[in-house]
Amino acid sequence: MNENQHQAPRRISILGSTGSIGCNTLDVMAHLGGRDAFEVPAITGMGNIDLLAKQARQTGAAFAVTADPARYQDLKAALLGTGIEAGAGPAALIEAGDRDTDLLMAGIVGIAGLAPTLAAVSRGADIALANKECLVSAGELFTAAIAKGGGKLLPVDSEHNAIFQVLEEHQRHAVERIILTASGGPFRDFTREQMAAVTPEIAAAHPNWSMGLKISIDSASMFNKALEMIEARHLFGMRPEQIEVIVHPQSIIHSMVGYTDGSVLAQLGAPDMRHAIGYAIAYPRRASLPVERLDFAKLSRLDFYAPDETRFPALALARTAMQRGGLQGAALNGAKECALEAFIAGRTGFLDIADIVAAVMDKLNDGREAASIDDVYAADREARAVAETLLGQPV
Ligand code: NAD
Ligand code: MG
Repeated sequence: MNENQHQAPRRISILGSTGSIGCNTLDVMAHLGGRDAFEVPAITGMGNIDLLAKQARQTGAAFAVTADPARYQDLKAALLGTGIEAGAGPAALIEAGDRDTDLLMAGIVGIAGLAPTLAAVSRGADIALANKECLVSAGELFTAAIAKGGGKLLPVDSEHNAIFQVLEEHQRHAVERIILTASGGPFRDFTREQMAAVTPEIAAAHPNWSMGLKISIDSASMFNKALEMIEARHLFGMRPEQIEVIVHPQSIIHSMVGYTDGSVLAQLGAPDMRHAIGYAIAYPRRASLPVERLDFAKLSRLDFYAPDETRFPALALARTAMQRGGLQGAALNGAKECALEAFIAGRTGFLDIADIVAAVMDKLNDGREAASIDDVYAADREARAVAETLLGQPV
């Protein structure tokens, strides 16, 4: 008998169900009992209407939303006769986050995920957080909203999930540092000259992890690790100097916590997001998950080396953003999203991404604090507007 069958179904909504995190989440839920174990108040996607409708039918979701208002009729047609409610556009996305649920998987990519996630946060739902941009852009406002809402914040980013697993709550005062591991991405050994010529297709080919397009390219530029440094600061209340990054090409150690007595605790596993997703869904229990077991005899070695911040300036930019504080996280993220989209569209080069982010951060460095989420959105819009003016120009 499945371990969940004796319990009332748990309600899990999934923002970004059609993406890499979303599909892995549905896979884990199917493994943990499917419709006998879970109800799905809401799922959301964007352009992939066929997949969204299929997922809605398979899970018996109550509400399916496409972020694209122009696709409303397509979604309605695809759900005809199922009794599943269709929605489209920004207000429907927020409504999806607002529907009563026990756990919300925040799996939308980018700052687009902030508003619907905050809707669930204010309701007091537990949040399985894959969308790191919430914490990078809104930082203290987001963690304050969680505290006010009263739900738990369960990190799904594999590094932060690893830290969450080994950070002993009663030893918080004794945490000296956290060590984020980074695979180094596909350009780990590339020179700057080689990186200058890469295409989005080459940049998206991650050596260890299978992920969405944008996070894969962010891994190649190490902007993903930069975002994760800021994410870790807010999640675990660390000072910037307590956050270290180490390149670990095998992606077996997912991250570590170092304590004042010199002990370092690490979490290990195969590079498969279903570990972290399953951990968040089953929390505080541990479920049986369909992931590969580590065979240490086969692994035989684990390598580590310091990241090269000259070839990968993103890491230093994260440190600058943390030191400056205020709205610099929103500026970094907004500029990066804009430059990344331009790179994907062939409008700018790979190395320009970091140059544009640095220039935007300097321009927006006015020491202002975010008094409200509106300030975060304003900083995001301004960062994108400045980044847009820099595209195609020498910065
Ligand atoms: P993805 O591109 O595969 O999927 C993104 C999802 O968001 C899709 O459902 C898409 O339809 C939806 N979406 C895209 N743009 C949207 C918009 N403007 N408005 C509303 N919805 C939109 O991305 P992913 O790799 O699954 O990543 C999702 C989030 O999880 C990101 O924040 C990423 O950094 C984080 N994350 C992902 C992984 C991974 O393994 N994929 C690991 C750690 C963290
Ligand atoms: Mg990660």
